[in-house]
Amino acid sequence: MVRATARFRHHDEVHFIDAGDGVTITLIRVRTDTEPTKGPILLLHGVAMRAESFRPPLARTLVDVLLDDGWDVWMLNWRGSTDLDPRPWTLDDVALNDIPAAVRHVLAQTGASSLGAVAHCQGSTALSMAAVSGLVPEVEVIVSNGVSLHPVMPPFARVKLHTLRPLMQRTQSYVDVPWRDGPEGALARVTRNAVRVWHAECTNASCNMASFALGSGHPALWRHANLDAATHDWVATEFGRVPMSFYAQLAASDRAGQLVSLRPKGGLPPRFAAVAPQTHARFALFAGAQNRAFLPDSQRKTHAYLERHQPGRHSLTVLRGYGHADVFLGARAHIDVYPRILAELNA
Ligand SMILES: [Zn+2]
Repeated sequence: MVRATARFRHHDEVHFIDAGDGVTITLIRVRTDTEPTKGPILLLHGVAMRAESFRPPLARTLVDVLLDDGWDVWMLNWRGSTDLDPRPWTLDDVALNDIPAAVRHVLAQTGASSLGAVAHCQGSTALSMAAVSGLVPEVEVIVSNGVSLHPVMPPFARVKLHTLRPLMQRTQSYVDVPWRDGPEGALARVTRNAVRVWHAECTNASCNMASFALGSGHPALWRHANLDAATHDWVATEFGRVPMSFYAQLAASDRAGQLVSLRPKGGLPPRFAAVAPQTHARFALFAGAQNRAFLPDSQRKTHAYLERHQPGRHSLTVLRGYGHADVFLGARAHIDVYPRILAELNA
């Protein structure tokens, strides 16, 4: 009898690793009673999220689906994870240190020579940066959701990024989604209250603050219609801080029309899509048609860049009815999305 995997059958194995610059990050290997029959898959969470974000309170999560398909699942907490001590970080740090260290660790532990990756939001951008820079040649397939090398944002999100950010960063090191709980400091309190008034679409203060922190929409990071009540409640405690150091890189990248390195070093180019990709990884790009954090044009532009250099190798899937994080958190994602991800990993 084939048993469908569910959360209570997961056995977590936590690995602490040095990212190479003195920062400790963690990997969670998710095991079940059956041994994997396929290779390792690395999961990379989005900004202000954590590895655990891939296990929302749904009957079937992406992790369950991957385990049932035989994959060896490793969830990374890169340095922006809300499970780690808060620190300022840039995508350069993650691409240069966290991702190569995680890939090497997984290969050393499993004896595999290559792996696949499923990445969301800034986990995707950092992984794409590391891949096209030639830092992780062992990654064979990259499933990337939302944005990869070309952040294209809604107009109001750009206004916040270029106008509000310079004001806020004078007194704040972070935009903190947990400001919902009553922040310290006048500016944070005014911001929180203004956000709650502006986002009258629901009374979940985290949902409101997440919409303020990234993108532009009511809400910005998902379509309410796609989240069940339990998952919408769960997001209230899932989101954390977004450091101003990240916003600075996003602003510079927005101006350049592609991801840029803040301090090119260690093999990172100044502009990531200005050079040919130094990887043989196949990219499977996913975009919610109604993504209000990064517009679907983000993935279209990266797809065009990849196809220009490696015609016919990569794919682009635009998911109708989906936004940004609901691609993984949606109540129907196990029907609408996960089978497409599996198909890309098994291709
Ligand atoms: Zn909401």
